[in-house]
Amino acid sequence: MANPKQRHTHHRRDRARKQYDVGLINTQECPKCKARVLSHRVCPTCGTYKGKEMINTTPKLSVKGGSASSGKVEKTKQAA
Ligand SMILES: [Zn+2]
Repeated sequence: MANPKQRHTHHRRDRARKQYDVGLINTQECPKCKARVLSHRVCPTCGTYKGKEMINTTPKLSVKGGSASSGKVEKTKQAA
């Protein structure tokens, strides 16, 4: 493998590292929930894009809650 012939000076190293710094990301305000979102992307907070709902962001309570409640009932019966 090729190795560098000479090490770079501190100034040259720091001048290169100065470019690593990332600038501010340009975000826009969601028209529905007013959260900061990337342009041309679905809003991760409310799941809408151009006023239409693309992702269902509401938590699934009916499926998980039903199974968990039945499990709790079984445990309480065993304890009593
Ligand atoms: Zn939103």
